[in-house]
Amino acid sequence: MAKRDYYDVLGVPKNASDDDIKKAYRKLAMKHHPDRNQGDDAKKAEEKFKEAKEAYEMLSDPQKRAAYDQYGHAGVDPNMAGGGFRPGAGPEGFGGFAEAFGDIFGDLFGGGAAAGGRRGGGRQVYRGGDLSYAIEEAAHGKETQIRIPTWETCDTCQGSGAKPGTSAKTCPTCNGAGSVHLRQGFFSIQQTCPQCHGSGKIIPDPCTACNGAGRIKKQKTLEVKIPAGINEGMRIRSAGNGEPGTNGGPPGDLYIEIRIRQHEIFERDGDDLHCTVPVGVTTAALGGTIEVPTLGGKAEIELPEGTQHGKTFRLRGKGIKGIRSSYPGDLYCHVAVETPVKLTEHQRKLLRELDESFRKAGDRHSPNAKSWTDRVKDLFK
Ligand SMILES: [Zn+2]
Ligand SMILES: [Zn+2]
Repeated sequence: MAKRDYYDVLGVPKNASDDDIKKAYRKLAMKHHPDRNQGDDAKKAEEKFKEAKEAYEMLSDPQKRAAYDQYGHAGVDPNMAGGGFRPGAGPEGFGGFAEAFGDIFGDLFGGGAAAGGRRGGGRQVYRGGDLSYAIEEAAHGKETQIRIPTWETCDTCQGSGAKPGTSAKTCPTCNGAGSVHLRQGFFSIQQTCPQCHGSGKIIPDPCTACNGAGRIKKQKTLEVKIPAGINEGMRIRSAGNGEPGTNGGPPGDLYIEIRIRQHEIFERDGDDLHCTVPVGVTTAALGGTIEVPTLGGKAEIELPEGTQHGKTFRLRGKGIKGIRSSYPGDLYCHVAVETPVKLTEHQRKLLRELDESFRKAGDRHSPNAKSWTDRVKDLFK
């Protein structure tokens, strides 16, 4: 089934404000809440919910939204969604609901989501913003800097999240377990505690500097080495540069996803490059040397007399050397014969003379004309 447009899913126009997007998602989230949709409708509601959640996650993130606006579904990878997080542990299925509702209800009830951070003590993986690189850069590789969001321990509370002089208390809802059991029709499912978000503790008097999160969001600059020959969709992993783990867990990794920007001249196909070279009609007819661009500079092609439109010349080894390839690919130059425009009276006269000379010789000078005329004749037999 074709994926629905994210804006259609949320029922908002393309120019919807962040607030409108949030409102539309809240409405859908309430409507398809699993508590309200049991029995036969449960499955359908779950699908609808997931769809809305994915749309919201994409459109509420300015970077992802821009990528989606520009490239559509190809521009964003919902498998890496989840607000940038992927819990390493936790129940599947309805667990997804719990997680999603944690987000939106945390928001609704004011600051709850920030307190205690995300659930689980497992490895969490943070997805970095997408980077775009022009093809030359991807061909040769380069070192670059990116700015990524990062969390630092709050100085005011030393990471405890509690106002200095106060301390956290055991969560009364889950008695410190971090999770609660929830009956859902025939099932009893384990769910992250809605009050403490899995930490097992609540902070009665949160630190004002970090709103009880114990950490503060900052930006950090990271040196990234883009290897030569990298291609669209490849990921560079920066170990340990993801989010810090919660409850003493190790930090996640940062993934930088490569998007190859359209090049003005070259089109990339694996390690091969393609380019279209316009050639004047007289050069194509008489033959001659034409100059073509390559990534490494200029090259020349000897056009034989009578070169036809669409003829392709291959320049061996002038493509890109892929990360996993031993040899560079090839550059394919596609000849595009151009019809001259803005003729002077003199040029028009010359062409008429030329035309007359061609006509006298029948099909002799038109290699495709005869077979074409025959095919047309066959068509009307
Ligand atoms: Zn603090
Ligand atoms: Zn709790």
